[in-house]
Amino acid sequence: MRILLVEDETAIAQIVLHALRAEGFEAVHCPTGGEALAAARAQAFDLAVLDVGLPDIGGFALCRELRRERDLPVIFLTAQDAEADRILGLEIGADDYVTKPFSPRELVARVRVVLRRLQPVAQAPGDAASFVHDPDGKRIRYRGRALDLTRYEYGLLAALLQRPGSVLSRAQLMDRVWGDALESGDRTVDTHIKTLRAKLRDVAPDADAIRTHRGLGYSLEGDE
Ligand code: CA
Repeated sequence: MRILLVEDETAIAQIVLHALRAEGFEAVHCPTGGEALAAARAQAFDLAVLDVGLPDIGGFALCRELRRERDLPVIFLTAQDAEADRILGLEIGADDYVTKPFSPRELVARVRVVLRRLQPVAQAPGDAASFVHDPDGKRIRYRGRALDLTRYEYGLLAALLQRPGSVLSRAQLMDRVWGDALESGDRTVDTHIKTLRAKLRDVAPDADAIRTHRGLGYSLEGDE
C-alpha cells in the first residue's frame, strides 16, 4: 500500500513517515501541493494524508485536484477542531481527519481503518455483487459483461463500489461524481441512478445491486 503524505512541516512529516514505514506502508512525502500533484501523476497512491494548511495550494483544493482523475481516499491533518465539520461534510468528502497535535500511532490506525473499509468487493463468478472495476480504463464489468456507461453513470457506480454496503448520500455522490460542475440537485443523482439501474437490470433482471435508503441515499449490495 502506497501512501502520499503532503505536509510542509518537516518535523511532523518525518514522524509520520517513520510511523507509516514502521507499519509496512510505502510512503512518499511532498512538502507542497504542487509536488504532490506531480507525484500523483507519476505513480498511483492508495491513500493520501493531506495537511489542510499548505504553502501553495490549500489542502481542500488539493484534495479536489487529486481526485479529478481517479478517486483517492483522503485523511486530513488539521490544526483546528472547527474545520472538522467542513472536512467530514459534503463539501470536501474526506474519509477521515486527525487534529494536530496527534499521535503517529493514531494516524496509522486511521489509515488502516480507511483502507480496510475500501477493500474491493468480492469478485467470485456468479456472486450477486460481482463487479470488476478497472479504474485506469474507467470500465466496469458486471457478471462478466462490460457495461456501456455514461461518464456520470460510471462515476456513480465507481463511487458506490468503493464502499460496498455503505450508504452514500446524494450530496456525497454529487460531490464525488460532479465535483465542481454547476449542474446540481438531488434529481440529478436520482436520474442517473435510474438509468444505471436499467443497465444493470439488462445484465441481471432478477438482481438489484443498488439499494435505495429512503431519505439517506444509496448503497451497493456488499458482503457486509
Ligand atoms: Ca501546514
